[in-house]
Amino acid sequence: MTELNPTCRIDSLNQLYDFAATVDVLRLDLLHPVVSGNKWFKLQHYLREAKKGKKALLTFGGAFSNHIVATAAAATGAGLKSIGVIRGEPGPVQSHTLLAAHGYGMQLYHTDRVAYREKIIPAAVCRDYDASHLYPIPEGGYGAKGVTGAGDILRKNKVEKYTHILSAVGTGTTLAGLTMAAGEHQQVVGISALKNSFSLAEEIRHLLPPEKWNAFSLLHDYHFGGYARKTPQLISFMNELYQKTGIPTDFVYTAKSFFAAFHLMQRGYFTASDKILLIHTGGLQGNLSLPKGTLIFG
Ligand SMILES: *Cc1c(COP(=O)(O)O)cnc(C)c1O
Repeated sequence: MTELNPTCRIDSLNQLYDFAATVDVLRLDLLHPVVSGNKWFKLQHYLREAKKGKKALLTFGGAFSNHIVATAAAATGAGLKSIGVIRGEPGPVQSHTLLAAHGYGMQLYHTDRVAYREKIIPAAVCRDYDASHLYPIPEGGYGAKGVTGAGDILRKNKVEKYTHILSAVGTGTTLAGLTMAAGEHQQVVGISALKNSFSLAEEIRHLLPPEKWNAFSLLHDYHFGGYARKTPQLISFMNELYQKTGIPTDFVYTAKSFFAAFHLMQRGYFTASDKILLIHTGGLQGNLSLPKGTLIFG
């Protein structure tokens, strides 16, 4: 798991689509079948720190969190235990995400939504572990080390020629990292997977030095109803994209960012000399929560 190669494949979409601009896709989804590409990058610097003497990673997430599975897999790969504090009481059936995390050896502790919001570590964790052995990682990998790791997405790949870097946004940690690592000639554009998340820009700025506060932009119109919501239009888009390109997307993040890129292209947002790098951040395990037959791939 820790041995994954951070240099990812870049696919061109221009043979298949009649786009005015150059559009390439950086395939972080090919890094690992279960671990979401950008999550792996965000975790690397936390892991390095934890390996200096801690025994277990502890982090937070919902029942469908890509970050939870990625942390579980990363911990196993690094010879560490992992603890997941999960939002809400367990449902009647465990999600594929939590099953996968458990399969990687993660110990799961459910907590009610109020305690979760406050990021209170459940008493049971303190009973089972010595607190000094734990290495806490913020929800979603949000924080300085997550930013450094996300910046490696650009640093470890050949991306100098691009004028625009596009990525899906959740906590904004990935976008902050991309903004830190992008060149002066590159515009970083984030597509929010959340609805009405007006504090997002502020949260991203919080991770950046002042000179970078205006070095990214955020699009808020491609959430398709909100976080983890979907419409028949989005599902058709995913199936058509796959049919034409062989590129699978997830309905929570990457389908929305690809849809946004295509929509911006149609609206003439880009010029012929623009070179767009669309980052496929991964997240495909999230599709397991869809009813069978929804997607033509999976
Ligand atoms: C978590 C995730 C994102 C969002 O990353 P942030 O750093 O939280 O903004 C984007 N795409 C995928 C596939 C993810 O799993």
